[in-house]
Amino acid sequence: MRIVLNVDRKMIGGIGMDWQVVRYDTLDSTNLEAKRKIQQQIVAQTESSLHGMVIVAETQTGGKGRLGRHWESKAGTGLWFTVILKPNVPIEQASFYSFAVAVSVAEAIREVYALPVTLKWPNDVLLSGKKLCGILLELIPHTQTVYELIIGIGVNVNQQLTDFPAELQEKATSIVLELKREQKVDAHLLFTSILAHLQKNCLLLETQGFAAIRAKWKAWSCIIGREVLVLEQGKVSYTGIVDDLAMDGTLLVRTSDGIRSVIAGDISLRTVDGGYTF
Ligand code: ADP
Repeated sequence: MRIVLNVDRKMIGGIGMDWQVVRYDTLDSTNLEAKRKIQQQIVAQTESSLHGMVIVAETQTGGKGRLGRHWESKAGTGLWFTVILKPNVPIEQASFYSFAVAVSVAEAIREVYALPVTLKWPNDVLLSGKKLCGILLELIPHTQTVYELIIGIGVNVNQQLTDFPAELQEKATSIVLELKREQKVDAHLLFTSILAHLQKNCLLLETQGFAAIRAKWKAWSCIIGREVLVLEQGKVSYTGIVDDLAMDGTLLVRTSDGIRSVIAGDISLRTVDGGYTF
């Protein structure tokens, strides 16, 4: 059952985007709810835009990452939300938002909690080498040039280690775990800070192109110069050293056969014991 707790229209940040925050107690997934809302608008043929709508759930029963992978989103432990945007950037460049979102989450966490988060391609936010936040971008095309972006963001905030299922305890972390606190922190400040940084970075992307976001992403990346294993379609493909983030958002990896560019896939970092992380 879905319960709308409150609809709250307010300005967050200073450059004029009017976020419309819609809160739910339980959802299957905030991205799915965003898709249903977009579908309803298409069927009703209404002109009003969903641009700036933020769908928040206290818990998700079927949260998903890329490739349909399960995203653990227990009640009261994190921020689980989706932002709908109608971007003013050519559709071929929509993937740049993926980096803008990761940078925004990193800026917010550094600002609110002063924690040294790092970024892993394409859009994971890590702390102590473990995953703190997952981002899932989906694109809904309306015409060849007009589209909407569904940006799912999951940030682990209040989990203690035992709140994570056993298989995640090695590779996931949360804000309170990193702050070494036993009490819960108030996630609202982080939520508003993410939206404010997102607003600023979307404007940066629209006005200055990818260069400024790319520079910020690279400054906090934990993979440039590191040895990685590249997995394509879930299978080990090759190893190499990360050379750079290209101007088109692909990852350039130096291999024994020369530079290869990773368009879609997963990266595992080589660890000191010679293995690879997730
Ligand atoms: P994204 O690109 O959105 O991060 P992934 O497919 O990488 O998507 O995320 C799903 C993977 O993340 C799962 O397979 C699981 O290993 C891990 N995972 C699931 N829930 C969490 C969570 N709450 N915190 C950290 N990692 C998680």
